[in-house]
Amino acid sequence: MSNINDYIDIVGQDVIDELHIIGNKLHDKTVQNINSTSVGGGVAEILTRMVPLLRQLGVNARWDIIKGNEKFFAITKKIHNALHGVNEDISSEDLEYFLEVNRENIEEISSFEDILFIHDPQPIALVEKKRDIGKNWVWRCHIDFTDPKPDIMNFLKSYIEKYDSAVFSAPAFSKDISIPQILISPSIDPLSDKNKELNQDMIDSVLERFEIDKDRPIVTQISRFDYLKDPVGVIEVYKKVKKYIDIQLILAGGGATDDPEGIKVLEEVRSKAADDRDIHVILLPPSSDIEINALQRGSTVILQKSLKEGFGLTVSESLWKAKPVIASAVGGIPFQIKHKYSGILTHSIDGTSHYLKQLLYEPEYAQKLGVNGKEHIKNNFLITRHIRDYMLLFLSLYHKDDVVYL
Ligand code: UDP
Repeated sequence: MSNINDYIDIVGQDVIDELHIIGNKLHDKTVQNINSTSVGGGVAEILTRMVPLLRQLGVNARWDIIKGNEKFFAITKKIHNALHGVNEDISSEDLEYFLEVNRENIEEISSFEDILFIHDPQPIALVEKKRDIGKNWVWRCHIDFTDPKPDIMNFLKSYIEKYDSAVFSAPAFSKDISIPQILISPSIDPLSDKNKELNQDMIDSVLERFEIDKDRPIVTQISRFDYLKDPVGVIEVYKKVKKYIDIQLILAGGGATDDPEGIKVLEEVRSKAADDRDIHVILLPPSSDIEINALQRGSTVILQKSLKEGFGLTVSESLWKAKPVIASAVGGIPFQIKHKYSGILTHSIDGTSHYLKQLLYEPEYAQKLGVNGKEHIKNNFLITRHIRDYMLLFLSLYHKDDVVYL
């Protein structure tokens, strides 16, 4: 695990000194993070790195995971999709079951600490406990909230408004709700196995292990196998560009324990890839961080063709590696990519194919995008900035009368 002082070389002494000062002010508070999975997806990714670093700064942080069965996660996935604007059939029995599992979890959780930091919709109804115990409750929304289905939004709103405040990842996600809303973007950890520097031998050995030819262009999308990441659309893009340039495609990802749809999507992707030996569909086990790092570093161009995206940590990860990225202009992605400056934003299969060809034909331009992208991530989306924002949020909960919300 990294030491907080290891970040001085990247962000400077002042930034770390400030974190220590803010952390000291929180030394008597315990922050309890609660979400629904320990692996897979961006939330688990961030908490794994964040919790130990907060502790080093003197903040007593802990992380609990709610329990749910297959039925519960099938319902929460439908809720997740509906919040992303997808038509889903969610019955009142589904919602009742969702609440029942939340209530069972309230009984299971051994203690509730000073600050309850609840991530995403799955555990949202734990806030019913607030009636009995008070304390500070913050709901952290990591998902793309631009166009939720109204019924599910109304259902959730009655719970969101029980919280003291809500945190969103992008301004476009803010909602007409009665509690203060705070904008905090996610981040990546430059020292994690997923993002640290790797030597060329390590990169080559991972490419070799997956039978990828390092002498031909490699186009990669790393994502959970999820319809909203549009892996099938990525294959369409590949097929269009393959007519002109002899590229290879990597679609690599695993599942998350709270996402039951993954297997179905993976099967569909495999059937679309059929017997094309230049499409590498790689099912990654959890803790494949070095492999993901190497695949990103070994790629010529990275794609993130999501249809919806909370933030898109894979975009930050790739830009941090100074890679040219072509990504959909959805969710938090335009926050990270300024079109034609720090990457390319697209809206369709045709647009993505067009720019992919251009970046492959113009490697110097592609490289420039990657270099600019890295600088942007360094200035805005590293974990040190994220920790600072969270600690200031926690402090503000104890100084509510002094805080002005816009
Ligand atoms: N990730 C991973 N293994 C996988 C697929 C994804 O570790 O098989 C990581 C990926 O590198 C990134 C995070 O999970 O750090 C995904 O976050 P993102 O915001 O891109 O999407 P989410 O999955 O949260 O929708």
